[in-house]
Amino acid sequence: MKVLVINCGSSSLKFQLIDSNTEACLAKGLCERIAIEGSMISYTPAGGEKEKKVTPMPDHTEAIRLVLDVLTNPVTGVVKNLDEIGAVGHRVVHGGERFAQSVLIDDAVLKAIEECNDLAPLHNPANLIGINACRKLMPSTPMVAVFDTAFHQTMPEEAYMYGIPYEYYRKYKVRRYGFHGTSHSYVSRRAAQVLNLKYEDLKIIVCHLGNGASVSAVKNGKCVDTSMGLTPLEGLIMGTRSGDIDPAIIEFIAHKENKNIDEIMNILNKKSGVLGLSDNLSSDFRDIEEGYFKGDENAVRAMKTFCYRVVKQIGAYVAAMNGVDIICFTAGVGENGPLVRTLVCEQLGYLGVELDEEANAKRGEDIEITQTGCKTKVMVIPTNEELAIARETVQITEQRA
Ligand code: AMP
Repeated sequence: MKVLVINCGSSSLKFQLIDSNTEACLAKGLCERIAIEGSMISYTPAGGEKEKKVTPMPDHTEAIRLVLDVLTNPVTGVVKNLDEIGAVGHRVVHGGERFAQSVLIDDAVLKAIEECNDLAPLHNPANLIGINACRKLMPSTPMVAVFDTAFHQTMPEEAYMYGIPYEYYRKYKVRRYGFHGTSHSYVSRRAAQVLNLKYEDLKIIVCHLGNGASVSAVKNGKCVDTSMGLTPLEGLIMGTRSGDIDPAIIEFIAHKENKNIDEIMNILNKKSGVLGLSDNLSSDFRDIEEGYFKGDENAVRAMKTFCYRVVKQIGAYVAAMNGVDIICFTAGVGENGPLVRTLVCEQLGYLGVELDEEANAKRGEDIEITQTGCKTKVMVIPTNEELAIARETVQITEQRA
């Protein structure tokens, strides 16, 4: 089956067409600046040239129409007509407590996703717009929602509850949900597969380190804890997000700087993290890495603090699982940043971790980067959220048939 995977944001839309039999990506692309002047679509068929076109996209329906046009283009397209697309898989950020698994989309599911909008006001409405636009243009094609939060729904109560009045959980479902679930699930399974070990027997820690960053603890094939919380602001220090802070800092800064809650939240989401720590040098780890090697004090501070927090989070999950067999690095920084992996692994001697420098310097493959025989294995597993969404989509669609 050919599966169209859609990841729809408020003004952008990423897509991939995947052949589920071979698991090959047939084409991929991106619509940018939807409903903003200067809208643009880029499209790359497998083995072909990337093409870019500036073209008006007044709304997401028009963006999806353009995606379907490029995929069926007689010269550069990869399918003859839309009937060849067997299903569409949509990434949905927040499924609340309602969705512990992917689900076939119908009107009731759409309503339930809408009810989670409060929990992810920046993401879920955009995801819904993408789903509705697709349903309009492909009314008879099955659509599946794959949730970022679903994999983490197996966490026990003691891992997902906060130490605040219980009534906020009862009334508003305030609790830890976690994000990047599709990635944590894909990477942890893949690590077991690459090492030829049984997933259900392992204790795995996945460090998803990208612009957004989270760590998860996966025990016997189930997520038992993760570092992001009610929202993706909690946990590690990220590109521009603060991660964990003393909540009293919010009031302290608000008084000192005469700012309101919205302004402070904006600072914690967009001006903090590595960007803020480096005194605005950059949120991009390539710049931080370059500065670190030059001895730039802002870059050194940001890099060391970021890595220290990853080390601490790993330690917490070793404790939570009473041990660890495999530690995985993934996402933009985790896959491409050998320095981050080195600085983290240097502090994991207590787990018997010894890096294989040659393996650590490689890129783009599933690889063990610890020396042969280490008790705890460290691996780099490039994440593939689109493939994971396509797999889920096929599974759910076939269950229905
Ligand atoms: P993601 O959110 O997973 O797409 O990751 C994006 C981040 O990965 C970027 O902001 C960069 O900081 C980081 N990144 C990408 N390439 C490299 C690289 N070669 N070395 C270090 N960091 C990288």
